[in-house]
Amino acid sequence: MSPLPYPAFKPCPCGSRKKYAGCCAPCLSGETPAETPEALMRSRYAAYVLQDAAYLLATWHPCTRPAELRLGHTGWLGLTVRRTEGDTVSFTARYQEGGQRQSLRERSTFVQEGGRWLYLDGVEG
Ligand SMILES: [Zn+2]
Repeated sequence: MSPLPYPAFKPCPCGSRKKYAGCCAPCLSGETPAETPEALMRSRYAAYVLQDAAYLLATWHPCTRPAELRLGHTGWLGLTVRRTEGDTVSFTARYQEGGQRQSLRERSTFVQEGGRWLYLDGVEG
């Protein structure tokens, strides 16, 4: 399944308040890899919003990467990055499912390999 189209001039789906073209678009297009764990985390959230499973798998560490990814029909409502510390990023992602507003709090860990940041895993919190 190909990712949903998204206009370059609109605010980035990651909630940064920058235009998509100047935020996560270069990461998702493969033009420029994310330079920091937070940038990778934001681009991966944008990839969930835009249903870009290929990008999510490509930025997932091979040790923890699922064989396939079904993105379903989660209605993502927004992202707040609460704290960035070293190679971890704590965030809250809000979404709507079955008519209910929910939120996911996670602390994700990233590792750098071959000059690229990869998502390793996450714990609640
Ligand atoms: Zn962004």
